Amino acid sequence: MPEGPEVQSIVTDLHNLIVGRRILDLVTYDYTRRLFGEIDVDCLRDKTAGSKIVGVTRRGKNIILQLSSDVYLAIHLRMTGQMFLRSDVPKYCRLTIKLDGGEDLHLADVRTFATCEVWDAKDFETFEAQKKIGVDALSPSFSLRDLKTVLQSKRLLPAVLLDQTKISGLGNIYVNECLFESGIHPLRKANNLSCDEIKKLHQVIVKILKKAIENRGTTFSDYRLPGGEIGGFQKYLKVFRRDGEPCVKCKQSIKRKKSGGRSVFYCSNCQI
Ligand SMILES: [Zn+2]
Repeated sequence: MPEGPEVQSIVTDLHNLIVGRRILDLVTYDYTRRLFGEIDVDCLRDKTAGSKIVGVTRRGKNIILQLSSDVYLAIHLRMTGQMFLRSDVPKYCRLTIKLDGGEDLHLADVRTFATCEVWDAKDFETFEAQKKIGVDALSPSFSLRDLKTVLQSKRLLPAVLLDQTKISGLGNIYVNECLFESGIHPLRKANNLSCDEIKKLHQVIVKILKKAIENRGTTFSDYRLPGGEIGGFQKYLKVFRRDGEPCVKCKQSIKRKKSGGRSVFYCSNCQI
């Protein structure tokens, strides 16, 4: 599943590639209902045809295409969604946005969980509130105070840090990596951290997300950039999916445990 750094990398590339281009048509294939819900696609085609893409931004893990016709398309890739800019139609394509001047924008999705919502400009300022998107861990304004507020919970750390309504941008990969780098055991309760630990965790989250964006995200299976390239951060992972391998700090074996339906990866020697 693309996490914050992956979505940000896609948004950055799309911004460079498609802003200023005009939409000629929308082509849908199958699973249209799952992608668009109740939206009438014919009506949407009329609303978007001829309009220019004037911006590509991110809200949480949503990719926002802002159109000159005052329409916003909010695309969420969920598990396996991918966006490609290319001239041929990719496998598992669910939507093609035909553009003037060359390659088209495609949304491909094997598992069909991706969604595309349509917002009018006048309603869009309430988007984050309506979607209950928490504080953005990738934002330059993400502060120590923000993290302290997020951690006021009796739940375990991964559950809190993955709760996109509290803090958005982290997923399972980066939560595991950040907790390892901070020396904090993943099975501790969020409200049980000392001030120094919270400070350390805040610094580490900012540092790791920045490095992940610089490396254009982490590719394990489905994540691709719009030009088809893979990310580069997987080579920096120290615990995620490295169970059984030696810890880079102390050489003890990395452990894996199930917690709340997902796996946590950690070193029981380095993380207390
Ligand atoms: Zn260790």
